[in-house]
Amino acid sequence: MSEEIKNTETVSKNFIEIEIDKDLASKRFDHVQTRFPPEPNGYLHIGHAKSIILNNDIAKEYNGKFNLRFDDTNPTKEKEEFVNSIIEDVKWLGGEFEDRLFFASNYFEEMYEKAVLLIKKGKAFVCDLSADEIREYRGDFKTPGKESPYRNRTVEENLKLFEDMKNGMFEDGSHVLRAKIDMASPNINMRDPVIYRVARMTHHNTGDKWCIYPMYDFAHPIEDAIEGITHSLCTLEFEDHRPLYDWVVRECEYRNPPRQIEFAKLYLTNVVTGKRYIKKLVEDKIVDGWDDPRLVSIAALRRRGYTPESIRNFVKLAGVSKADSSIESAMLEYCIREDLKLKKPRIMAILDPIKLIIDNYPENQSEICTMPNNLENPELGEREIEFGRELYIERDDFMEVPPKKYFRLFPGNEVRLMGAYFVTCTSVEKDENGNIIAVHATYDPETKSGSGFNARKVKGTIHWVNAKTALNVEVRLYENIVDEEKGKLDENGNLNLNPNSLTVLKNCYVESCLKDAKAYDSFQFVRNGFFCVDAKDSRPDALVFNRIVSLKSSFKLVKND
Ligand code: ATP
Ligand code: MG
Repeated sequence: MSEEIKNTETVSKNFIEIEIDKDLASKRFDHVQTRFPPEPNGYLHIGHAKSIILNNDIAKEYNGKFNLRFDDTNPTKEKEEFVNSIIEDVKWLGGEFEDRLFFASNYFEEMYEKAVLLIKKGKAFVCDLSADEIREYRGDFKTPGKESPYRNRTVEENLKLFEDMKNGMFEDGSHVLRAKIDMASPNINMRDPVIYRVARMTHHNTGDKWCIYPMYDFAHPIEDAIEGITHSLCTLEFEDHRPLYDWVVRECEYRNPPRQIEFAKLYLTNVVTGKRYIKKLVEDKIVDGWDDPRLVSIAALRRRGYTPESIRNFVKLAGVSKADSSIESAMLEYCIREDLKLKKPRIMAILDPIKLIIDNYPENQSEICTMPNNLENPELGEREIEFGRELYIERDDFMEVPPKKYFRLFPGNEVRLMGAYFVTCTSVEKDENGNIIAVHATYDPETKSGSGFNARKVKGTIHWVNAKTALNVEVRLYENIVDEEKGKLDENGNLNLNPNSLTVLKNCYVESCLKDAKAYDSFQFVRNGFFCVDAKDSRPDALVFNRIVSLKSSFKLVKND
């Protein structure tokens, strides 16, 4: 038995866990510490969720710790607003960082000291070349780099110049500190990379204290080392930076330095995740902010009605790999549908109403019908709905001249009103332009649901709400913001937008049992999908619902077990 459990565990481990197991076995590390290191320059998206969940869950699995650290070393693009939204999103996704919330900018002092240490060891020098010259000297994949004429400055000279950089003696961009590594290295990242630059920028945390800022490749490994991170998990584009990462922690003399392991980014087919694009959609007012339900920022998914469980499940299904690939967004939809299916009550809502008048039902009468809240999950119980003479039904549940195999309402046909009676359509009422304003029917009092009536059967069942008690609400339907036929980008690199990505239905009706629905509450609406109360625009007396997802999809999860 225990043998069996062991086997399945090994099989299900991803390549990162396998590496961690090796590191623990070889005693390179005796514990596991991970981190999620966002730059506070935008909202988090579904791709970041992968990184958060991966780092958080690995720490948990190995009884280790997980840090949330803001990589706030580049003040130009960073904002307090993003810091707050990121904290909220990481918590919502279940990131258990507790009090381990850190800011890289709190390490500026230590980074500076480490830079001084490198200078003293002859491993860093101040360079006066311009940015363009540095690029030129760096060479490319075919040509080796050329050494900077400033490379052989003495330690004393470098110490003095670096201090001058720090003390604001130089113009922005005029001097940089570079690591002295190897201009002939086949890895361009190792060709004397810039590690500090002069830039007069006010920082959200340190204000105007610093006019020099460390570069990412120097700062990041130091941040990890200071926090005692063991496994620094990052995305594939940093693979070529790993030798530099290792060089920095080694030359800065950190003991038990962290190990960087790269994994593939999560991409969704035809879905925009890049901050650059989302920022533009927000600025151009094409979307209603970073949390517009058509986006896949975490805030947007939450507002749309996604749950942390569904996102977690999605990330798990997507898996961790070393090869970039793009996942169908239908899989994300599958995950939310699966999560809500058994948890949410199924309510009757009419999105495109026409009135149904039951002429033989007494004018001032009403009665209670009982309906199960979820056919597949009896634990959700039942609810009572008031039935009456005037109802609303979906416009497409009636046809004056039906095609073959149409089993819903048409003149002369009998259908079941869900949870209530059989009704037979008797006539149609139209305005002077020929538009249908009401459908008339008669009901058979013998046929109430639950009464055991079985003398005859009907082929169609339609849903309804009571015109007297139903709540008038707004419903928003979404499609992909990107035109899927044309593909994500046009020839100029601009997004191909889908003009139908948002449909607002102002005149919908839902059962009165939703009268106290609050932001983020979600429900299944019979036949129309899963819906969630919009957190931004819904009011108690004017509810707004977002469609999270429709009920059906072509997506099939193939399980290979
Ligand atoms: P973007 O440009 O897409 O907004 P980013 O890489 O600039 O993303 P950071 O704030 O630097 O965003 O990222 C924080 C962490 O999230 C990094 O460790 C990064 O590797 C990881 N990450 C970013 N995008 C993805 C993704 N699509 N899939 C998995 N991890 C990601
Ligand atoms: Mg980034």
